[in-house]
Amino acid sequence: MVHFVGAGPGAADLITLRGAELLKAADVVIYAGSLVNPELLQYCKDGCELHNSATMTLDEVLDVMRCAEAAGKTTVRLHTGDPSLYGAIREQMDALAENGVACDVTPGVSSLFGAAAALGAEYTLPGVSQSLIVTRLAGRTDVPEREALRDLAKHGASMALFLSSAMLPRVREELLAGGYAADTPAALVYKATWADEKIVRCTVGTLAEAGETAGIHKTALVLVGGFLGAPYEKSKLYDAAFSTAFREGPDRGGIAYLAFTENGRALAQRLRSALGGEVSCTRDGASLREWTAARFPTARALVYVGAAGIAVRAVAPYLVSKASDPAVVAVDEGGHFAIPLASGHLCGANGLALEIADVLGATAAVTTATDVNGVFAVDEWARAQGCAVAGTERIKAVSGKLLAGGSVTVNSTFPISGEPPEGIELTRSGEAEVWVDIRPHAGLTVAPRALVLGVGCRRGTTREALETRFAEFCRAKRVLPEAVRGVATIDLKENESGLLAFCTAHGWRLKTFSAEELAAVEGEFSASDFVAAATGVDNVCERAALLAAGADSEMFVRKYAGEGITFALSRVPVSLDWRLRNG
Ligand code: SAH
Repeated sequence: MVHFVGAGPGAADLITLRGAELLKAADVVIYAGSLVNPELLQYCKDGCELHNSATMTLDEVLDVMRCAEAAGKTTVRLHTGDPSLYGAIREQMDALAENGVACDVTPGVSSLFGAAAALGAEYTLPGVSQSLIVTRLAGRTDVPEREALRDLAKHGASMALFLSSAMLPRVREELLAGGYAADTPAALVYKATWADEKIVRCTVGTLAEAGETAGIHKTALVLVGGFLGAPYEKSKLYDAAFSTAFREGPDRGGIAYLAFTENGRALAQRLRSALGGEVSCTRDGASLREWTAARFPTARALVYVGAAGIAVRAVAPYLVSKASDPAVVAVDEGGHFAIPLASGHLCGANGLALEIADVLGATAAVTTATDVNGVFAVDEWARAQGCAVAGTERIKAVSGKLLAGGSVTVNSTFPISGEPPEGIELTRSGEAEVWVDIRPHAGLTVAPRALVLGVGCRRGTTREALETRFAEFCRAKRVLPEAVRGVATIDLKENESGLLAFCTAHGWRLKTFSAEELAAVEGEFSASDFVAAATGVDNVCERAALLAAGADSEMFVRKYAGEGITFALSRVPVSLDWRLRNG
């Protein structure tokens, strides 16, 4: 019997239990020496006959199998990752079948998954991509014409490219030709899960240089797509924010937008980039009635970009209950008003209208006196107070407790004026269930946007470099990224594409100042001759942060420098009250 076994991506303990058992029992093992970790061969029993297929032809491999079979021995053919991907097992199995040799296959963990694990990435992020394209660039082996990389790239889906890391300039060219933006995040993962694993994050545009610099030309996967973006970028966690204690609600998808005109479509697309979701337009043949019938049962929210009356008539036949209906919101084409028409799960429509208003600078025409269920909704309060929420997965538990008539402890490092609503118990305890703070905590944390990020960076600094450094900075200084309200720098950087992309991804506005303006800021700053020579002012990040934050602000975190990037944070006073409505 011949067993084809997936060895896993590299690490010896990533083979399956079944695969390891088969290796232990094998009399003969033929392994793909170039890619299978030799540590795996330690599972083999004494006297096991080993063959490295890297130096063998198909016929030689088959000969070894046939001989073993004739001698009544058990053979394991050990392939890297999972044998079904670029494993060339079919030709071996067919030949064995012709000779009447029985075989079976034990799957393995593909390097595709080893690489995702190494990156801590999810290929299928809601609102980003729900498909993964596994392919390769044509090389010595042809790829069918209709699967040309540039055509597959047109989908803009998550992509994993095997056997292509030696041809990065061409990969880049094809991906760009297919329509990926040059700043689409990408990564090279070399020898995922091996001891000498290497990860290089870059963009589609910088793939070739990144590979060159890191010296990666083989045994690597090229991963591409928005799924590699910063997690807080795409996932506004709308789902978690509005999920509720009602368990009977159907498992709903994302936000569906319907537009009726080109302007409406553009507006919907703006909303989609900020909040995620899917845009349709009647101009492309979508019919109002059919679209509503199809989306109502599945979408989490329906957003009609047009007259409220049209939306009301469209959804009327389907409305059942606020516990199970999707949120329904109408937004006028001019982007002035976001009108929640039917509340979905626990104020989904109110919350969504507020979010839409946030994105568009519109007014949310919220008509419910407090929130629909009469209990305090932390996320809605946070939004009304201009705060962000971290740890949104805990909203459910907090809302559930309040809905059940219980109380919730809140530790706020900011004064909050007015009387706390029913169920809210203020505490100084470190065990509070909810925090209001700009520092990270284990509990649900409402983060007032009290911080201005001052940035200095070398020319050509990429968005990825800024993201990585910013994440480190926040960790090191124990600051919630969500607490940042905007970014400031010197005017020399106003066209830095990496910095601009970094700001856009977080929804931050970038304020820039001239060297003279920065020099005029009073106070003590971490001065640097190098910065002075390059920009004309001795410090950029601290001065810019303070200047942008305005009067009454103060330095919060001084210059944090490294890798050609400097960050500093200033803090502005924030006043909070217990009101649930804007204004
Ligand atoms: N069956 C294997 C793929 C074999 S093709 C699997 O499922 O993973 C060989 C290609 O796989 C290499 O060129 C490289 O692109 C990729 N590969 C295999 N092991 C890898 C690893 N540990 N890290 C990154 N890429 C790997």
